[in-house]
Amino acid sequence: MSFSKDIKEEILNTKIEKTCCASHFLALYLVLKTGNLVNEDKSLVFTFTSAKDARFFLQFIKQELKYEANVDIINSRDCRLRFYPDEEFLFVLRDISTSKDFKKINKCCKNFLLKAFFLAAGYVSNPVRSYNMEFVLSSAGIRDFFKLILNSFRIVYTERIRSSKHVIYIKKIEEIIKVLNIINAVNSQLKLEEIRIMRETKDNVQRVVNCEVANLERTAKASVRHINSINYIKRKKGFNCLSQDLSEVAKLRIRFKDASLSQIGEKMHPVVNKSYISRKLDMLDKIAENIRKNEKKK
Ligand SMILES: [Zn+2]
Repeated sequence: MSFSKDIKEEILNTKIEKTCCASHFLALYLVLKTGNLVNEDKSLVFTFTSAKDARFFLQFIKQELKYEANVDIINSRDCRLRFYPDEEFLFVLRDISTSKDFKKINKCCKNFLLKAFFLAAGYVSNPVRSYNMEFVLSSAGIRDFFKLILNSFRIVYTERIRSSKHVIYIKKIEEIIKVLNIINAVNSQLKLEEIRIMRETKDNVQRVVNCEVANLERTAKASVRHINSINYIKRKKGFNCLSQDLSEVAKLRIRFKDASLSQIGEKMHPVVNKSYISRKLDMLDKIAENIRKNEKKK
């Protein structure tokens, strides 16, 4: 199953304690999915493309809200759920579809509004590949209502218009975790946190490897430069122009081309450390440079 589906499954499986939350959840889902046409007989109709979702909402409406409801199967794919809400529900529905009196909505209900938004319009990419949560909304009014909810939870988002739909993006992993926490998708939240730790460990290992590769490259480049300098001195002036210690280091460097500076130090009499060798090789570079400069002047 996809990560988004897992989250939706978790939303559908949470118990709703209060009628106010159940009304808000259902009303918003209705607005997002079907618009909010009230029929002459005061019934509301939902069309579902999934029998599983229809069954869920039928049970939900009967158990949580105690409204009369029934499902008609239209064809092999679609079924229609009709229910008869009370006046209070119609008020909630009107307030939500007109985004009115947002401040009056209880905090507990706001959690359920966020759940309904995710269920009807939310999507999360596979977090192993990238962190991205998005909500695709059909109207500017609904988008503004959604922004009020996100702002009330202090969730950071960006927005864009994509193929004439209003899309809200949440890209930061901390913010995605915050949303999962609010909508009480506990298992998905834990899974995301695990993936995050795994990804961070992998990134750190990669960083260390990159760093080691860079060090090796630097060492190899320096070694080539030193060998070139030493060969140049040998060709132009011979090693006799060098002091005893410089000449010894120069000879060892070109004899043991792949040896590290410490290994060269171990071959000296007496043994010296790598910074001694490094200093001597720098001096050889300078000597070669001076010979080159004098050659140019001639
Ligand atoms: Zn509530």
